[in-house]
Amino acid sequence: MFNVNAMLDENITITEIESWLRQENAAELEKLWAAADRVRRENVGDEVHLRGLIEISNYCVRSCAYCGLRKENKQLDRYRMSAEEVIECAHKAHKLGYGTVVMQAGEDYGIRAQWLADIIKTIKNELPLAVTLSMGERPQEDLCLWRKAGADRYLLRFETSDLKLYKLIHPDLANKTSDRFAILKFLRELGYEVGGGVMIGIPGQSCASLANDIDMFRKCDFDMIGSGPFIPNLLTPLGTGELKPDIAPADQVPATELMCYKVVALARIVCPQANIPSTTALATLNKETGRELGLSRGANVVMPNCTPLKYRVKYEIYPGKACINETAEQCQMCLAGRIYSIARTIGKGQGGRIRTRINAD
Ligand code: SAM
Ligand code: SF4
Repeated sequence: MFNVNAMLDENITITEIESWLRQENAAELEKLWAAADRVRRENVGDEVHLRGLIEISNYCVRSCAYCGLRKENKQLDRYRMSAEEVIECAHKAHKLGYGTVVMQAGEDYGIRAQWLADIIKTIKNELPLAVTLSMGERPQEDLCLWRKAGADRYLLRFETSDLKLYKLIHPDLANKTSDRFAILKFLRELGYEVGGGVMIGIPGQSCASLANDIDMFRKCDFDMIGSGPFIPNLLTPLGTGELKPDIAPADQVPATELMCYKVVALARIVCPQANIPSTTALATLNKETGRELGLSRGANVVMPNCTPLKYRVKYEIYPGKACINETAEQCQMCLAGRIYSIARTIGKGQGGRIRTRINAD
């Protein structure tokens, strides 16, 4: 008989990971979901940590072939929040009971490093919040300055470990080779908690390369792992099909809800103690139960949106984003209801990476 415990632990091989990615049999997949849920419960418990997301700017100097914020998209109405607005959002996040704020933006050099450092200091002085940044591939001096100002964590998805595909969909800036793995290593050296991750179903992405991505989660021992489906944006070359990476149809990873659950579950199994969100992109594919299913199959974090509504609609990475019109208060109520409906609890405190099993029964 198939022995779940023998196959599904941290030592799972890349070949086994790939065969799970190709697995379509519902009864077999139940074993994957059960193993991921057990590993999640034993290592990070039943708490679901809420991170208040603040999308502080949609300007970007990059030309990522997948993203609506790319600089070539002239149809996007650009904004940059003021320092006062960002700090007010952080206060709101605290009032709503969140232990972390995540400040995210395009790679926007209109965000001066010192300006953001001052905001980080103010938040850390006034509130008991962890501060997570997701500001793209900023220079080392900026990453150092923000860490010194008190930032705790940094998210930078490597998107795909297939370098040829990465180069195609994520062009370098002039005179600057993009090496997100090197930046992630540097962030770790600075003492940040570090988050990597991928898009699932990128045109040109094979099951073998996605299995390698999951192995990279393990090798890098990420504190946080973000993954979500690639959602085509018709204002981008990868979304229209104008850019068409070469791949045999049988090898292409589908950008489906099912594939996203498999990646969440396998990420949990290879990195038992990581913080893993059930993402908005996943909720966009299944607005009814996507969040809950992600949480039941390995995830332990959700990121309610705290961006003011007038800006949120302009942070259009891809179309049809879930939760675009709900206020921060509505998001909080809705997510709390979803968490309680699956017999989980809302996390207390900052919810940082833990390094010991909390529930070994
Ligand atoms: N600029 C920063 C960066 O690139 O890391 C942070 C913001 S960026 C919008 C955050 C993430 O959005 C990216 O890492 C990428 O995985 C995701 N993303 C961009 N376009 C997407 C799309 N069309 N479908 C799904 N996810 C997408
Ligand atoms: Fe800019 Fe990030 Fe979008 Fe790339 S993914 S265009 S870096 S916002």
